[in-house]
Amino acid sequence: ISMDDPIEEHRICVCVRKRPLNKQERLKKECDVITVPSKNVLLVHEPKLKVDLTKYLENQAFKFDYSFDETASNEMVYRFTARPLVQTIFEGGKATCFAYGQTGSGKTHTMGGDFSGRAQNASKGIYAFASRDVFLLQGQPRYRNMSLEVYVTFFEIYNGKVFDLLNKKAKLRVLEDGKQQVQVVGLQERQVGCAEDVIKMIEMGSACRTSGQTFANSSSSRSHACFQILLRRRGKLHGKFSLVDLAGNERGADTSSADRQTRMEGAEINKSLLALKECIRALGQNKSHTPFRESKLTQVLRDSFIGANSRTCMIAMISPGMSSCEYTLNTLRYADRVKEL
Ligand code: ADP
Ligand code: MG
Repeated sequence: ISMDDPIEEHRICVCVRKRPLNKQERLKKECDVITVPSKNVLLVHEPKLKVDLTKYLENQAFKFDYSFDETASNEMVYRFTARPLVQTIFEGGKATCFAYGQTGSGKTHTMGGDFSGRAQNASKGIYAFASRDVFLLQGQPRYRNMSLEVYVTFFEIYNGKVFDLLNKKAKLRVLEDGKQQVQVVGLQERQVGCAEDVIKMIEMGSACRTSGQTFANSSSSRSHACFQILLRRRGKLHGKFSLVDLAGNERGADTSSADRQTRMEGAEINKSLLALKECIRALGQNKSHTPFRESKLTQVLRDSFIGANSRTCMIAMISPGMSSCEYTLNTLRYADRVKEL
């Protein structure tokens, strides 16, 4: 790890990433309402109407640990968000990294990367970069003698139920024992020996996640995907890195939909994103009470929200277009609440 990398002493890091306008948005001549004047600040220029119907822009500023504009690469985002947390798991801690935002804002692109096209066009995401650095650190003198083994898991939480993405979406049970240890029964843990092994798992799990979906009715926008890197020492868990591609936050608004299933999914997503916010805040404020039981997501990640050596990072993803302005502001307000005081 080189000298110019950020050394983050805080337990919670909150960042924002703006994606570029896409082709359709450019064709529709959509306005870009986001600017990033410095590496910590992001401005939203919201179009509004005065009482006399003249148009004006209302500017709102948000401050984060880092704000990435549309020119930032996945690797750049990784470097200032998840990368400082790789060390945490070698030191026996728990790390989490969340991608939050509306559907289409770039959560999966940032976390999982794009492997859908031909191999030469594939772009890596945070799952792959973090795995690469895990193997890098594993080989360093100070960790080499610890004989740590690396495993990965990949699962999806959809409507409060857990499905294994490395085992044909097998439905799994979550059990909590008397000592409050949470276990996902039967979750496949695949041992990996190099970064290429991990890429295969990411591709396999990502394909499993999107299988059987139509573009118009994509359940991946309504599920949380969790990719974990586990370090084991003689079988015993040493450290754990959970990288979570959250369900689209606009789905929480589906609670008034005519369709019962959609309504229930919306309510479930709402509940889990609220619980997540409270759990991260509890971690940041060293609170004794962590409301992890409020949702399956927070329950499964329970051990990552407690303990002295737990750290987390949230990346709020935003679409730049004027038509997304309302969702963008919701996303930024949520991220703002997660920040350490
Ligand atoms: P989400 O998972 O939040 O619904 P995606 O990651 O699927 O959104 O992104 C939607 C589309 O935008 C994808 O085609 C993706 O490749 C593209 N995209 C997202 N972020 C970026 C970015 N920073 N640069 C270029 N393309 C992006
Ligand atoms: Mg996605």
